[in-house]
Amino acid sequence: MKQNWLFLVIALLLVGGLWAYGTYIAAPRPPHQRPPGTTSPNNRRVERTDAEWRDILTRSQYNITRERGTEWANSSEVTHEHRRGTYACVCCHNPLFTSGTKFDSHTGWPSFYAPVVSNAIYTEPDGNRTEVRCSVCDAHLGHVFNDGPEPTGLRYCMNGVALVFAQIK
Ligand SMILES: [Zn+2]
Repeated sequence: MKQNWLFLVIALLLVGGLWAYGTYIAAPRPPHQRPPGTTSPNNRRVERTDAEWRDILTRSQYNITRERGTEWANSSEVTHEHRRGTYACVCCHNPLFTSGTKFDSHTGWPSFYAPVVSNAIYTEPDGNRTEVRCSVCDAHLGHVFNDGPEPTGLRYCMNGVALVFAQIK
């Protein structure tokens, strides 16, 4: 009889645990909290659920932009793109950079010294680095460092997977 009770308690704990885990994984991820005062060009805003992003994006695009991943160095054709054009966010097509501020950083990642407009992106502290995100949809784009060329001295080190290039002829 005593053993039956023990069995019941263990069974209840198991069921309770599974239920709690189910609620946890089904819970929608809350939208990213942007720094206060963050603006975007024309106040444009794109918000989607995790499931919608998974639907729209490829696996690597989702991993980089929504899960803050980093692509392998030299893995993106965008790194070696030298034609005249613009680079937009792969998630929401917000224009982020132009070929005019692109430079060869020899890092294996596409690098720019300035965004197309200052509020196209916003930054957040990320350990000892500074993360760069799209101001329209919060996509993780890469990081910005203080070792870039003039006139800004900044190096926006981007993931090519997070960018869509459009040539201007
Ligand atoms: Zn975006």
